[in-house]
Amino acid sequence: MKHATGLNPQLDNSTTRQLATQKPATRLMKITNVEIKAHCKDPAGAERMLLDLKAKFAGTDEQTDTYFKVKEGRLKLREGNIENSLIYYQRANEAASKRSDVLLYKTQDAAELKPILKQTLEILVIVKKRRKIFFIDQVKFHIDEVDGLGAFLEIEVIDEAGNQDEADLRKQCLHYQRLLSVNDSDLVRVSYSDMILHKKTPEIIVDSTELIKTKLIALTAPSGAGKTTIARHLLKTFDDLAFSISATTRERRPHEEDGRDYYFLSKEEFEQKIANDEFVEWEEVYAGQYYGTLKSEIERIRKAGKHVIFDIDVQGATSIKKVYGDEAMVVFIKPPSPEVLFERLRNRKTESVKSLEKRIARARRELTYEDKFDRVLVNDILEVAFQDGEALIKEFTKI
Ligand code: ADP
Ligand code: 5GP
Repeated sequence: MKHATGLNPQLDNSTTRQLATQKPATRLMKITNVEIKAHCKDPAGAERMLLDLKAKFAGTDEQTDTYFKVKEGRLKLREGNIENSLIYYQRANEAASKRSDVLLYKTQDAAELKPILKQTLEILVIVKKRRKIFFIDQVKFHIDEVDGLGAFLEIEVIDEAGNQDEADLRKQCLHYQRLLSVNDSDLVRVSYSDMILHKKTPEIIVDSTELIKTKLIALTAPSGAGKTTIARHLLKTFDDLAFSISATTRERRPHEEDGRDYYFLSKEEFEQKIANDEFVEWEEVYAGQYYGTLKSEIERIRKAGKHVIFDIDVQGATSIKKVYGDEAMVVFIKPPSPEVLFERLRNRKTESVKSLEKRIARARRELTYEDKFDRVLVNDILEVAFQDGEALIKEFTKI
């Protein structure tokens, strides 16, 4: 074949051989740096101070850092318009200047590495920020606007050659901390990833297309077993849980609110959503009464970084388990006996005689399903059931 090497045909044979055996320059660097991170109340003022110090402005980078779950340290893929790299680092959580040992692989296009990482590792968290980058010699300064967290200033003294004394690096870091009037009380100990992971507010910002894989907990049982009562308690106890609001065509009960207890839909609206493939699962739980979990509902909750709790019938729970596998735990709420269950249903006084009969008939069947699920939670004494429920959630979500 004519140009089997794939190299320029005009090169003579010796040059071709030489090029073929040459290794490309390595883009993997082992770096030591010492850095601080601080809350920055006045990013414009910090920028002015840096320019007064004759810092060189290197540009504004729109960065998406995807952190992957690893045993130790942090592994992140940085996609930006300036910086593209795969970074692994180990660093202690300290407020004062901290040393990091960094392995940094520079690339043209970090997105190319993403499929391999996503295939092999779980995403821990995604951090998005706009970063203004400045340099004074080997010292790098960042003014960051981090989605969901606010503004920060970072000072990084970088030792690319790896031969400088750590104490000298710390001295330089402190020198610039003083010059830029950064107060010790503004120093931050942890990384942006930790801040986002531990923030409990629903405004946690994550990439809209790649959701944090929070867990799904489905409480299932016959009507009257105590799903709603137990779910309410768990939602009050754990900030990191949110209720999956189902859609239904059944009539709203007087104390219920549309968009809080259910999305109450007409039969036509529900059927249109079935046709549009908007449900993860749906059932005609009672004749003429549809119930279903909207895909958008699970997405809404996961985007907020919360675990999803469902109050769902046994068929629906089975479907959730099938779709989500190990990401889901199905808990069967078991009443002490069928008689107690029927008594509770009657005492709840929410059903007409006809509806009560339908529910009791269905409950008899559903009570036989308990061994099909991940866990059984006996709901006899309510306080005990609450505690058992809390333990199950803690174990499954590691809250
Ligand atoms: P579900 O959501 O499974 O249909 P609910 O949570 O509405 O069940 O409970 C049915 C009724 O039983 C409610 O009136 C509730 O207050 C009551 N209940 C639930 N658990 C207990 C319990 N352990 N002891 C006594 N009553 C209970
Ligand atoms: P209720 O009318 O008492 O609120 O609920 C009746 C039954 O429907 C309960 O067993 C409840 O768990 C179930 N249910 C509620 N939402 C859903 C849902 O989204 N999907 C399915 N399959 N069942 C649901």
